[in-house]
Amino acid sequence: MEQSIINTKKIAIVGGGPGGLTLARLLQLKGADVKVYERDINKDARVQGATLDLHEESGLAALQEAGLMDAFHANYRPGADKMRLVDKHAAIFFEDVFEGEEQLQRPEIDRGPLRKILLESLQQETVVWDSHLLNVQKIATGWQLNFHNGTTTADIVIAADGANSKIRPLITPLKPFFSGVTIVEGTVYNSEKSVPALHTLLNGGKIFVMGDSKTIIVSSKGDGSLVFYAGINTAEDWSKNCGVDFKNADEVRTWFKNTFADWAPIWFELFDQAEPQFVVRPQYCMPLDQCWETLPDMTMLGDAAHLMPPYAGEGVNMAMKDALELSRCLYDPSFATIQEALAGYEKQMNTRFAEIGKITLDQTASLHSEAGLENLLAMFKGE
Ligand SMILES: Cc1cc2nc3c(=O)[nH]c(=O)nc-3n(C[C@H](O)[C@H](O)[C@H](O)COP(=O)(O)OP(=O)(O)OC[C@H]3O[C@@H](n4cnc5c(N)ncnc54)[C@H](O)[C@@H]3O)c2cc1C
Repeated sequence: MEQSIINTKKIAIVGGGPGGLTLARLLQLKGADVKVYERDINKDARVQGATLDLHEESGLAALQEAGLMDAFHANYRPGADKMRLVDKHAAIFFEDVFEGEEQLQRPEIDRGPLRKILLESLQQETVVWDSHLLNVQKIATGWQLNFHNGTTTADIVIAADGANSKIRPLITPLKPFFSGVTIVEGTVYNSEKSVPALHTLLNGGKIFVMGDSKTIIVSSKGDGSLVFYAGINTAEDWSKNCGVDFKNADEVRTWFKNTFADWAPIWFELFDQAEPQFVVRPQYCMPLDQCWETLPDMTMLGDAAHLMPPYAGEGVNMAMKDALELSRCLYDPSFATIQEALAGYEKQMNTRFAEIGKITLDQTASLHSEAGLENLLAMFKGE
C-alpha cells in the first residue's frame, strides 16, 4: 500500500496489551492515524504480570524497528534469565546462567516496564482508556465500535483484545480448543521476607518445578515480588466442577495441599504466603491449521489471533512479531489494496503460528507427562 493511501485511513486497535501497543507505535512512526481502545480505566489499573524473555527474531526485532532498544536496555533485568530446574522435593537438577551473547538473545523484562516503554513512546491521547468494547458493526464507511460508554467509527479495525477477543468471531468461526492443562496463578509480594527459602532458591531468576505430571513455574520480578503458576492435567470444565471456589484463598490452599500432597513444604509456603487473589486459567489453543478469508478492513493479532498455552514463552513474542509484520505489510507498496496487505500479513502469521503453536502444544504435553522433568532436563542439555 502507498503511504499516502494508508495514512488517510482511521485505524482502531482494540486492546492495549503488548501486541496492540507495539502496533500503534510502529504505525505512528509511519504517519498513521491510530487510536488504541483499552478497557482498563487507566494505565495504573492493573498490576502487570511476570517477567518475559524477549526473543531476538520477534519481541526484540519489533522493539528494534520501533526505535525502543535504548528504553529497553534502561529497563530490562540482566540476570533474570537465571534458571533452575528442580523436582518436587526442591532438589536442583539443572541450573543455567546465560552469559554474554546468549543473554542478549533472550533478555528479560517485566511486563509492567515493557508496557510503560510502549505507552510512553506513543503520541499523547493515542490510548483511549476505559473503552470496554462490547461489539463491532459493519457500516457503509467501515466499522462502528460500540463500547460500554459510547461509540466511535474507524476505517480499519485491528483486534488486539487477547484470549477472549470480541472481534475474532467476525473474522473466523474457528474457536480455541482446550489444551488439557489448567493453571492456578498467584503472586507473593516481598518474597525475601515472605518466603525466604524460596527467594534464595529463586536467586533473582526463574524456577521450573516438575513432578507427577504437574508443574510449578516461579518467576522473580524487579519489584521484589514473585509470581507463580501451577499447572495440572484436567478436564476442560474442571475449574467449574472441581468444587473449589477459586475466589476463596483458603479453599485454593487446601486444594493445593491435597493435590501436591507429598511435595516439599517450600511449595506450600508459596501458596500460604500468596496474595489471596488466585487466578484459575484453563489453557486453550487456536487450531494449528487455521485460516480464513481475509476481510477488506479488519484483522487480528496476538492472543486474539492465535491463543496458546504459555509453556514455550512465545505469546508476547508472537504478538509483537505480528505487530511488526502487520505494520510492514500495511506499508508495503507491492500490495495494491488494504485487503491484499492484510492477506499477506495473515498468511505469514498463520504459517508462523502453525510452527510455534505445535512446539508449544508438544512442550505443554511433555512437561505435564510422567517424564516431565527428564524431558525438560534433556532439552536444557540440548539432547
Ligand atoms: C500464566 C501466563 C504466563 C505467561 N508467560 C509468558 C511468557 O513468559 N512469555 C510470553 O511471551 N508470553 C507469556 N504468556 C502469554 C502472554 O501473556 C500473551 O500471549 C500476551 O500477553 C498476548 O499479548 P496480546 O497483546 O495479544 O494480548 P493481551 O496481553 O491479553 O492484551 C489484550 C488487551 O486487550 C484488552 N482488552 C481485552 N478485551 C477488551 C475489550 N473487550 N475491550 C477493550 N480492551 C480489551 C485487555 O485489557 C488487554 O490490555 C503467559 C500467559 C499466561 C496466562
